[in-house]
Amino acid sequence: MTIEQNCRKIESTVEAACLTAGRKREEVTVVAVTKTKPVEQVEELYRLGYRHFAENRPEGLIEKQTTLPQEDIYWHYIGTLQTRKVKQVINRIAYFHALDRMSLAKEINERAEKPVSCFVQVNVTGESSKHGLSPSEAIPFIKSLEGFPNITVVGLMTMAPIDATDVELCRCFKDLKIIQEQVAALNLAHAPCTETSMGMSQDYPIAIAEGATFVRVGSAFFAETEA
Ligand SMILES: *Cc1c(COP(=O)(O)O)cnc(C)c1O
Repeated sequence: MTIEQNCRKIESTVEAACLTAGRKREEVTVVAVTKTKPVEQVEELYRLGYRHFAENRPEGLIEKQTTLPQEDIYWHYIGTLQTRKVKQVINRIAYFHALDRMSLAKEINERAEKPVSCFVQVNVTGESSKHGLSPSEAIPFIKSLEGFPNITVVGLMTMAPIDATDVELCRCFKDLKIIQEQVAALNLAHAPCTETSMGMSQDYPIAIAEGATFVRVGSAFFAETEA
């Protein structure tokens, strides 16, 4: 399959998932995860109409950002960011998906030249291998970000366990949605928290069924493009 065929397949899957869930297609933003992929493939996704791209290393972000058009792309940073690397990326991105600790929040607040839209990462299922706050830590943490003018908590992000069953995936995404709604109901000026970043290539239809507003899709775009 070519990238273009993969795009069509992803788009029809997103549409079908929205239809089944009674949601509008515009409610879901597909973020193309382009980490480790060559610039040419990202350019092809751009030509095919994608405008949201995610990287997980400063080098990859900078390389692609300097090559692709500057005006109309939203760059997302996913994955762990070491505190000392914050200054390299924070003023280059529209969304940061991995806010999970106070030291990182402080550094972002200090280095950002304007407010950054952040997702607080929650480890819903409590897997020890994953980053993210536990569900019980999430709300106190978000409240404690009030004094940071350069951090806006736009939503919550999670990564589902890799080997989860569909039932477990549903539960995980539902639980994130519940916490997101709890935060939104607090009406915090610094944390509107209207969004959920959940779902990857293996599970984005389930995430959409459970209310995802941003899905982070990587390998599904690039499957079998070498052939
Ligand atoms: C790599 C990655 C993705 C995309 O995963 P695929 O399985 O390739 O779709 C999504 N989110 C995060 C945080 C990632 O690191």
